[in-house]
Amino acid sequence: MTATLLLNGTIIDGTGAAPQQGSVLLRDERIAAVGAAADLAAVQEPSLVRIDVAGKTVMPGLIDGHCHISFDEPNSNDELFFHRRNGLAAIIAAENVQKLLRAGVTGFMDADSIFEIGVDLRDAIEAGIVAGPRMSTGGYALWTSVGGTAGRLIPDEGVRGYGKVLNSTAEIVAEVRRQIKHGVDWIKVHVTGVVPRHPLRGEVKSWTFDELKLVCDTAHELGIPVLGHCRGANSIVECVDAGMDLILHATLMDERALAKVIDKQVPIMPVFTFQANLADYGQTVGADPMIREMFRREIADSCAMLRKAFDAGVPLLCGSESGFSITPYGEWHHKELEVFVRDLGLTPLQAIRCATQHNAFALRLKDRTGVIAPGYLADVIVVDGDPSKDVTILGEHERIQQVFVNGRQVPLVPARKRRDPPGWRVSTYGARLSQAVAMREAPLDKPVLPEHEI
Ligand SMILES: [Zn+2]
Repeated sequence: MTATLLLNGTIIDGTGAAPQQGSVLLRDERIAAVGAAADLAAVQEPSLVRIDVAGKTVMPGLIDGHCHISFDEPNSNDELFFHRRNGLAAIIAAENVQKLLRAGVTGFMDADSIFEIGVDLRDAIEAGIVAGPRMSTGGYALWTSVGGTAGRLIPDEGVRGYGKVLNSTAEIVAEVRRQIKHGVDWIKVHVTGVVPRHPLRGEVKSWTFDELKLVCDTAHELGIPVLGHCRGANSIVECVDAGMDLILHATLMDERALAKVIDKQVPIMPVFTFQANLADYGQTVGADPMIREMFRREIADSCAMLRKAFDAGVPLLCGSESGFSITPYGEWHHKELEVFVRDLGLTPLQAIRCATQHNAFALRLKDRTGVIAPGYLADVIVVDGDPSKDVTILGEHERIQQVFVNGRQVPLVPARKRRDPPGWRVSTYGARLSQAVAMREAPLDKPVLPEHEI
């Protein structure tokens, strides 16, 4: 039996309660006791590791509810769909999970993966073959032939990248059952997609209500929950009515959609980090100012409705969209908390609760992890400083000092210097070389924002 006593720390328990001073005792894979009870129980432990964490915070490890661990930071759908290989994607994902641990992430959900490697990666982590955070996983995202946000790169049928096109009710039922047989924790549906000449700009619902309900009924029959990527009020209303368990994005809600979500208390994961990074740092990575402004507005426009949902008790979950070039692994898992505080007006403790206690739902471990309390799984981090005053410190790497998953301290090894295998990245011939450019009479074309799945 192994036990660890973290003593003299400031404890943030993840429930939103005010921080307390004291000790936390971890025994085997669980939290055994907290506060004075931890000091008392520690005396009885035959082999105890004592770690003095004075001046530091003990809190549940961060859970990232939306991390594409198999993508390996592409900067376009071309790269993601056409430059990845099955075996290498799995090997590289096994390395990338360690970057999450170093950032204080002790659990994450990967809703859809290329080559459907999520199930194998999760099983390898659970078997101790790969050192990584706790993981829940989907298989291929489900598309109709309208697809999602990648336009004609999505074929009319079959698999591409992280998704699969389904063209009939028979195909829907067969695919949901196939994924469940292979061991997914969640079924993900791309409920909205881009339709080129639709009168509405933005994403539109690409499934009928009956199709959405069929997905949910088939999955629920086998005990598996369903999440839906939704932009737009209509899609949210139908997803809630169809019985969906978690709504991703949930932007552009109207009063009707809000009332539905509140009535059924369906958790929402806004996933603002991708847009926030482009709005905040787009200039640095050469993004078009118009697109930066569009994303900034998308966040601003959604905040009022999401805040109303939060105030009415709807759990908001934190997901970072890590896995793209604009959201590399290990760098931005804390950013969604920052957005929740800055743009949604949550307190730091409320935002931390979203990323810990509430996010345990994404791991399908509600009331079993994400809280510092006796009996919970010991997924715990020690942070130098006080994130209840400022959540941005969770993004400062050197402040994440200890990480425990299942009660075991994880060695935080430094990241390898990045070197890509041949053919892994899209390489271009270069910018357009007109004669005027060649003669230095005209400027080079501006870099263009890559397409993306968000
Ligand atoms: Zn995503």
